[in-house]
Amino acid sequence: MPHMLSAHLAPPLIAKALRPDINLFAGILLCFLPDILHSICVFLGVERLRVDERYSHALITVLFMSFAVFVICRFLDLPVTPSIIYAGIVLSHFLLDLVNRRKMAVTPWGPYIPGIGLHERSRILGFAVELSMVLISVGIFAVMKFNGELASLRLPALLLLIMLILEAFYFRIYFPDVKGLISARLNS
Ligand SMILES: [Zn+2]
Repeated sequence: MPHMLSAHLAPPLIAKALRPDINLFAGILLCFLPDILHSICVFLGVERLRVDERYSHALITVLFMSFAVFVICRFLDLPVTPSIIYAGIVLSHFLLDLVNRRKMAVTPWGPYIPGIGLHERSRILGFAVELSMVLISVGIFAVMKFNGELASLRLPALLLLIMLILEAFYFRIYFPDVKGLISARLNS
């Protein structure tokens, strides 16, 4: 089941760049909340790894988690705006998955919202869009962090490295035949 991977990190990175009061690591955790739930569902035998995500990725589940995050943030005395941003980061997971998938379920039993299905239309294009989102979001983060001191670029550089490793991992999953492709090119 093709979906976004490292591009999910773009919303928390951009949020942190624009609002210093956002906790980057909380944001990173929240942007992967449906995937974390998916791992738990796989462990419990309710879903199948990357094939069946009907409960963890249904719009109704993501909306519920997003609302719960908002309530918890308010309960922890966070102001309204950052609470909305944290809730929005959870919801962004669903919206980003719509880019790569043909359809996303509203409830585990349907109906479905049509997605762009970019990955199924063109794996190269899907990968390129994801990679651009990684570079743009880290770029925005680096620009906002940079105060004329190179030392302040340490965190963006580390994040870029982590995201590129994720991206390489993603590349291996979706282009398992890459060695064959290259040798076919070279031999032709
Ligand atoms: Zn996901």
